[in-house]
Amino acid sequence: MASIFTRIVNREIPCYKVAEDDRFLAFLDINPLAQGHTLVIPKEEIDYIFEIPDNLLGDYFRFSKSVALAIEQVIPCQRIGIAVIGLEVPHAHIHLVPLQTIYDIDFKKPKLNLTTDEFQSIAGQIAEAYERICSKE
Ligand code: AMP
Repeated sequence: MASIFTRIVNREIPCYKVAEDDRFLAFLDINPLAQGHTLVIPKEEIDYIFEIPDNLLGDYFRFSKSVALAIEQVIPCQRIGIAVIGLEVPHAHIHLVPLQTIYDIDFKKPKLNLTTDEFQSIAGQIAEAYERICSKE
């Protein structure tokens, strides 16, 4: 059975998309630790991040970097933290989390409750920043 992220890739279920190319997709986490908390996935359904083939891994990280730089332009933060957990969804994903303090990437803390409008606004702003970054590369 397809993972929930494959179903997002296939447009069977919606997401708050922030960036996409032919191999990767980035969208907001629906249970965010912080505003702008984003997941970056390979479109190919690979369960464990360390199963990603070497010829994809570098581009996956480069894509994640561009998304992180876009988030930084939109969400006030000191840095973008990255985490890989993968215990809930068996489809590789990098969490990009804007950080003011180390507590912002504590997965045990209560998640934010954002409205649809807030999710859409944040995703739209990050998507615009991502496009600007890509147009300069
Ligand atoms: P983990 O596999 O432990 O890294 O956790 C999976 C993450 O995916 C959690 O932070 C969830 O909030 C997030 N998540 C699960 N389903 C969706 C979805 N449909 N859209 C966006 N994020 C999701």
